[in-house]
Amino acid sequence: MTQPRIGVVGTGVIGAMTAWRLAARGLHVVAFDRYAGGHDRGASAGESRIFRTIYKEGGEYVPLLRRAGELWRELEKTTGRDLLTLCGGLTIGAPDHPDLVAVRACAEDHDLPHEVLDAAGAAERFPQHRLDPGEIAVLDPNAGVLRPEPSVQAALAEAERLGAEIRPYSPVTGVRRTAAGWLITTGGATVEVDHLVLTPGPWARHTPLLHGIAVEPRLITACWFAARDVAAHRPERLPIAVRRHPEAGFSCFPVLDGVGVKIVPHHLGWPAIDTPESLPRNASVEFLKAASAAAARLLPGVRPDPVRVTTFTEGFTPDDHAIVGAVPGSPGATVLTGFSGHGFKLAPVFGEIAADLAEHGTTRYDLTRFAPSRFT
Ligand SMILES: Cc1cc2nc3c(=O)[nH]c(=O)nc-3n(C[C@H](O)[C@H](O)[C@H](O)COP(=O)(O)OP(=O)(O)OC[C@H]3O[C@@H](n4cnc5c(N)ncnc54)[C@H](O)[C@@H]3O)c2cc1C
Repeated sequence: MTQPRIGVVGTGVIGAMTAWRLAARGLHVVAFDRYAGGHDRGASAGESRIFRTIYKEGGEYVPLLRRAGELWRELEKTTGRDLLTLCGGLTIGAPDHPDLVAVRACAEDHDLPHEVLDAAGAAERFPQHRLDPGEIAVLDPNAGVLRPEPSVQAALAEAERLGAEIRPYSPVTGVRRTAAGWLITTGGATVEVDHLVLTPGPWARHTPLLHGIAVEPRLITACWFAARDVAAHRPERLPIAVRRHPEAGFSCFPVLDGVGVKIVPHHLGWPAIDTPESLPRNASVEFLKAASAAAARLLPGVRPDPVRVTTFTEGFTPDDHAIVGAVPGSPGATVLTGFSGHGFKLAPVFGEIAADLAEHGTTRYDLTRFAPSRFT
C-alpha cells in the first residue's frame, strides 16, 4: 500500500519536529519554509530555551512534558547532538506570587521532585541571584536548557535522513482542496499531498486557511549581560530561572557562549507587531536601560550593560495556550500554532501529536485545552 504524503508548512521547531516524527513512521513528508531551518526571524532561535517539568501553566502539561523529555533524548541519541542540559531550574519570587503558588501546587499534585529554598538558602546555593528577604526559590531538578538552532537543525536532518524532503526558501502562497487531498502552491510550482500540517508560528494570520485565526505576533527581546565570573554562570553552576519581582520579571539563562547570561525581560511587555516580516531588529534605549536596571537589581554577578541584544517574534493566543487540532471546515488539514512563549520544550511531543492527527485523525493526548474551535 502506498504511504500517504504529508505537506508541512513551516519548519520552525514545531514543523521540524513534525517532519521528524512523520518521517520516523515511514510516511512521505515534504516540508516547506519561507527561510531555512534554524533562522532567526521567527520564534525558534536565540541560543537557549527553558525546559521545565513543574509547569505553572497547568498540570495537564505534565504528561506532555514527560514524553517531550523522552523525545529530546531520542533526538540527541539518533543525531549525536547535545541539545538539552539538565542544569535544574529555579522559580524565584514572593511565596504568594501566583507563579510560585502554581509551581508548588503542580509539584505537589503530581509528586514531582522539587526543593523550596528560603532567601538565605537560595543565596548560599545560588549567589548569582539576589533575593529580597521573604522571597523563596523553588528548584526543579529536572529542568534545564535547550539549544534552539541545533535542535531545529537536528530534527530536520533526522527527518531528511529518514526520507523527508525539506524545502527551504519555499514560501507557501496557496493551498487548494482536491478530490484526493491538497494542492500546495510555492514559488510558481504546485505539490500534491494527502494531508496538510500547518505550523507557521507567528505567521499564522498570513497563512492559507488560517486568515483571521486568534494568533497575534508579538515582539520579544533578549539581552545578554557579561558575567564577571563566567565559570560561576555556566550551566554546571547556574540553573535556568524564572524571576518574579515587584520591580522586574524575566527568564534567565546560564552562559552558553563563554560570555553572557541571557535574560528575556517579561515586565517590559511583549508588544504586538503587524506581521513577523515587520519585526524591528533593534531595541530602544529606554528598553535597554530598563533591562539593565533589572539586571543590576537582581543579578549581582553580571555587568549590567548588555553586550548583545536580539529581537524575535512569537505568536500568542488570547489564553496563552496553543491552537492544535483539525482546521475547522478543512478536512485533511491540521494546525499547530500560537505557542505563546512556551512551546519550544514541548515541540517534540507536539510533533508526535501532529503525526498522530495526520496519520489517524486522532491522538492519545487530551487536546481539549488546545482546541482550535475555542476562539471561534
Ligand atoms: C525570545 C523567546 C524566548 C522563548 N523562550 C522559551 C523558553 O524558554 N522555553 C520554551 O519552551 N519556549 C520558549 N519560547 C517559545 C518557543 O520558542 C516557541 O513557542 C516556538 O519556538 C514556536 O515555534 P513555531 O515552530 O511555532 O514557530 P517558528 O519558529 O516561528 O516557525 C514558524 C515557521 O514557519 C515558517 N512559515 C511561516 N509561514 C510560512 C509559509 N506560508 N510558507 C512556508 N513557511 C512559512 C516561518 O518561516 C518559520 O520558520 C520563546 C520564544 C521566544 C521568541
